[in-house]
Amino acid sequence: MADINSVHEKYMKEALKQARMAYKKGEVPIGCVIVYEGKIIARGYNRRNTDKTTLSHAEMRAILKASRVLGDWRLEDCTLYVTLEPCQMCAGAIVQARIPKVVMGCMSPKSGCAGSTLDILNNPDFNHQVEVTNHIMEEECSNLLKKFFTELRIRNKEEKICYNNYVCGTGDSGQ
Ligand SMILES: [Zn+2]
Repeated sequence: MADINSVHEKYMKEALKQARMAYKKGEVPIGCVIVYEGKIIARGYNRRNTDKTTLSHAEMRAILKASRVLGDWRLEDCTLYVTLEPCQMCAGAIVQARIPKVVMGCMSPKSGCAGSTLDILNNPDFNHQVEVTNHIMEEECSNLLKKFFTELRIRNKEEKICYNNYVCGTGDSGQ
């Protein structure tokens, strides 16, 4: 029988596939799946730029779909897998949806709300606390993010050079 970590890895791989879909669209690569009774019932990836709304985080999209599948706003027997520690909005939605378990890939030191900045998933004053598992396929999850941001910095630099050449007329546009 598969141990719990290999089960976590199996679903985190699916969340990573979602993150790669975000990456292909030029979005910050974050992916999420929701598992119910051993089956993936919802998938989501970050589409904030594509949809032009901050509500399109991977977790929000997956929660919306899972609620449609189960016909309930409560996702009481579900486990949510996400490649990056959730932000305040998504952590809030996880608590509101009564999701009992969250499995995370890597942490988000400056914006994560599952322990990094705040711990919304485990606030004893709320009526619901979440069991959190961390560091599942951590390297793969964080490497994809690092790759994205490195490439973004290069792209931004190139755009700036093109823009300066255009404005100052100091060079051709490279054609
Ligand atoms: Zn979020």
